Amino acid sequence: MEQMSFMKSIFFGQIKEELMFPYPKLHPDTTETIRMVLDTVSKFANNSFKTNEWDKKGEMPKEIISHLAEMGLLGIGVPEEYGGLGFSQTAYARLMEEISGHDGSVAVTLGAHQSIGFKALMLFGTEEQKKKYLPRLASGQLIACYCLTEPGSGSDAASIKTKATLSSDATHYILNGSKLWITNGGIASFLTVFAKTEVTDGKGEKKEKVTCFMVELPIDGVSVGPKEDKLGIRHTWTNEIHFENVKIPIANVLGGVGHGFKVAMGVLNHGRLGLAAGCMGGAKKCLETSIIHANERVQFQKKIGEFGMIQEKIGRMMTNIYAAESMVYMTTSLIDRKNIDYSIESAITKVFATEVLWECADENVQIWGGAGFMKEYPYERWLRDARINRIFEGTNEILRAFIALSGMQGPGQTLAGLAEAIKYPLKGLGPVSDFVLRKIKRSVVGETITKAHPELHKLTSMIEEYVPEFATQVEVLLRRHGSKIHLRQFAQKRIADIAIDLYAMSCVLSRVTRAIEENGGSVEKCELEIAIARSFFMRSNRRIQGNLKAIDKNDDELIKLIVAKGYELEKYPFDVLG
Ligand SMILES: Cc1cc2nc3c(=O)[nH]c(=O)nc-3n(C[C@H](O)[C@H](O)[C@H](O)COP(=O)(O)OP(=O)(O)OC[C@H]3O[C@@H](n4cnc5c(N)ncnc54)[C@H](O)[C@@H]3O)c2cc1C
Repeated sequence: MEQMSFMKSIFFGQIKEELMFPYPKLHPDTTETIRMVLDTVSKFANNSFKTNEWDKKGEMPKEIISHLAEMGLLGIGVPEEYGGLGFSQTAYARLMEEISGHDGSVAVTLGAHQSIGFKALMLFGTEEQKKKYLPRLASGQLIACYCLTEPGSGSDAASIKTKATLSSDATHYILNGSKLWITNGGIASFLTVFAKTEVTDGKGEKKEKVTCFMVELPIDGVSVGPKEDKLGIRHTWTNEIHFENVKIPIANVLGGVGHGFKVAMGVLNHGRLGLAAGCMGGAKKCLETSIIHANERVQFQKKIGEFGMIQEKIGRMMTNIYAAESMVYMTTSLIDRKNIDYSIESAITKVFATEVLWECADENVQIWGGAGFMKEYPYERWLRDARINRIFEGTNEILRAFIALSGMQGPGQTLAGLAEAIKYPLKGLGPVSDFVLRKIKRSVVGETITKAHPELHKLTSMIEEYVPEFATQVEVLLRRHGSKIHLRQFAQKRIADIAIDLYAMSCVLSRVTRAIEENGGSVEKCELEIAIARSFFMRSNRRIQGNLKAIDKNDDELIKLIVAKGYELEKYPFDVLG
């Protein structure tokens, strides 16, 4: 049974601090092993990656993947008994961060293989299925890809049209349909494919539900389209894949017939963290090159780094990277601890980390000025490479809706239970008393954090104060809109953004507490981390206040009016010429 997640509890106004403290730390032996692998990877990347050249051509040699496979990097999280390195999610994330810092396309290729490509097999495969495929996937003999998106189905993954029909002798499925923009599509030989199948529900009614299949190539009926030409991550393989009467043995169903949607979402919840970790590698690189330029470039007889506007950018980059990094490794540790729900935390971390990377890539170009715009330097590429992260593995809009709605689901059900209970008071005594008790605790005792370092008490109380206020606003919105809340995206965005800030603040608080404790309580030794935490909290505080206020006082209706006009006219309607 999974424990309720930290963030789902926050939506109820509860702070499960035992899930956040102490900030996770790897065993020194593990750290040593990771360092050794990082060192080997970095040496290989420095000697062999020709990123600018590959970006220009839009392709990289396949041998690069083979070399990475020889280092074990195609089976980082695969248990050793199946031939992988057997690393934890945390170690995997740290490696993805490193590789991404060298080359975003290489990191995406590795991620498409193991963060999502064969993740369904790892999470939902039977022992027999794992034995059959994992050793070849971990060694790189098979390259994997994840096939969900279709021409008519992107964010709305449940609307896929690819179909798998059971053969008359019930020995195999016949697969027909097309998948779009599949990373590794041009090099993969192990395809995780999602398709609709007919299932009979408990009432004997036939329904179409998503099922997940493993397809090993070569096999008759599969054709792969040409490599797509793209804005960024240009040397990844992105292709269409077509299926025409492809015969898939029933033994290749993953996670059970009709359970494919759960499989697809489970994979993405996991995979998003690899992506978020990759963003950290890119963001740190942007920060470092920004600092170098700020220290070297002279204008108006001063280093540009002495100007306040440049300092503000660099300070903000460093602070946001620290927060995002704290979230990435807190969340990977939740996965490593097992049996803790991490779905909201992983979505929050993906949104925050991808936006931090985008901001860092953009500010780095700005700090480099005209040089940032020139192909002679890699900075414009970093910006191009960064852009995709806000789109794939769940767009940030879809994830914000997911954060808000899946967080509100718990309180929503309690409120519905409450309404039911009021109708049938005796039957509903449980929910009423639970709800009332929680409310009393929230308003009288308040939620407290006892494990944060006392030096950080102002930051601690900020979280303690915002959590009940947030839960109250969640309740207000649920009472106001009921089940129609799923149609209220202006409100969802605000709720999601507050949740993102509260998770970021909690991760930062925990990490800085650990830093102070590890330094024997010395505040001086942790001066930088404390400054980062304070600055981050001040900025979060402003954002949360703004979002809370805007729940009731906003320009939503004006925006709707403006947009409606824009949609009607299909153009900008003004011209100074009259
Ligand atoms: C380089 C690249 C690699 C990819 N690799 C893979 C892969 O390996 N496997 C795979 O299956 N797919 C892959 N994809 C597809 C990717 O996951 C989708 O592009 C993504 O899910 C968005 O779908 P879409 O492009 O159809 O956009 P749409 O779903 O059409 O969305 C368009 C815009 O509308 C917004 N929107 C849509 N619905 C809502 C809503 N309900 N509320 C608010 N806003 C909404 C979106 O956020 C977005 O801003 C890849 C895409 C690219 C570009």
